[in-house]
Amino acid sequence: MQNATRAGAIARALNDFDSGAFRARLDSLVAIPSTSQEEASAPALRRYLAEGLEPWLTRLGFIVALHDNPLPEFGPILTALRIEDPARPTVLLYGHGDTVRGLDEQWREGLTPWRVTTEDGRWYGRGTADNKGQHALNLAALEAVLAERGGRLGANLKLVIETAEERGSRGLREFVAGHAALLAADALIASDGPRVEPERPTIATGTRGTFHFTLAVRLRQGGVHSGHWGGLTTDPAIILAHALSTIMDREGKILVRDWLPRGGVPQAVKAVLAGCPVGGGDGAATIDAGWGEPTLTSAEKIYGWNSFIVLAMLSGRPENPVNAVAPDAVAHCQIRYTVDTDAVVFEPALRRHLDAHGLAEVRIEQAGIRMPASRTAPDHPWVRWAQASMEASLGKKVQVIPSSSGGLPGDVFVDHLHVPLVWVPHSYNGCKQHGPNEHLLIAVAREGIAAFAGLWWDLGEGGTPGR
Ligand SMILES: [Zn+2]
Repeated sequence: MQNATRAGAIARALNDFDSGAFRARLDSLVAIPSTSQEEASAPALRRYLAEGLEPWLTRLGFIVALHDNPLPEFGPILTALRIEDPARPTVLLYGHGDTVRGLDEQWREGLTPWRVTTEDGRWYGRGTADNKGQHALNLAALEAVLAERGGRLGANLKLVIETAEERGSRGLREFVAGHAALLAADALIASDGPRVEPERPTIATGTRGTFHFTLAVRLRQGGVHSGHWGGLTTDPAIILAHALSTIMDREGKILVRDWLPRGGVPQAVKAVLAGCPVGGGDGAATIDAGWGEPTLTSAEKIYGWNSFIVLAMLSGRPENPVNAVAPDAVAHCQIRYTVDTDAVVFEPALRRHLDAHGLAEVRIEQAGIRMPASRTAPDHPWVRWAQASMEASLGKKVQVIPSSSGGLPGDVFVDHLHVPLVWVPHSYNGCKQHGPNEHLLIAVAREGIAAFAGLWWDLGEGGTPGR
């Protein structure tokens, strides 16, 4: 097509956005109550793929297929292929069409999960940020580029949309492993999770993994009268508190040093995190400078290091205390870790540590990885390529981080497709994505569609990293 230009493609995308066309698309997607956390919604998962996405994708030139999840009790998976020339670069897009439950009655007055409401520069609705709005922006940007280029992209795209992400992406690994040839690509470029702060376009090249375990002190069958036994018999809550105090000091420094990356934060990670802002997300919590690993910056602590968090702990019945020494005390704990630590060390290192502190009666139960860590080198050629493209489109610096602060199944794509990970989030930390009042910031979304129009344009121009 004559006079097709990069600027023209971005202008089309922004026009689509400003005209309300994108908002109408988002309305139609949010209206399908595709939560994967309620059994009754199972038909809506398929409907999201078959009615929400398939007609649109077919119009964009994709060959679409719906697949049952390899695990029977989890939602279906959509694949879509748009192959122009196998010799050209191929990018894999990923998204998830399922959401957490609506929590309908908890949204504030005037808002409701399954209808998009505009207020204060935000689009409220379940899935606006996680993840419907994010993958829809990338596809709407593609639509603009195809229109500008007369229907041609100049590259190949493959798309995977799953519907079990909010249940831990169950079945995705088996599916991708079983379709590795079909899904082979040069890079994954996809969107989920938050920017480092709303104004700062961001590329995340991985995620920290999560390792969970329960610390338990189980001493007797039931509580025993505190008047007789208090002072005579061991209090499990006190033992548990001592155990925790040996794991982390008063300033939040992890004392089980075998849990930590031996070589410290890698140089390439330190380099991209220099000057990286850490947002507070609407004042939801304070960033306490004295908390955590002493010599690290705030960005290094959350994107380049491991953290230990007590998710919940209990002894006795706090809602109804009785005069008794409790039978047991438990703490449910989590380690968030980078690829610089092998998760197999966590449990044995903790056991050695507790034993060395005379805490053999503290049991480690239910220990295991919930979500494996993944990371592409933050200076990988595809990361640099995407960063340069986005900076050209948006006219501002793009922050690269080695780990998203959200959860993403990047490990699946690294393990089975060996693709570099380029996550380009369109949301922010205050988006309330798993609670009531989830929303997408309109200004961030508008930058997102422009950024992706530029990325898709550049993908067809040549000059992408070699295979
Ligand atoms: Zn989510």
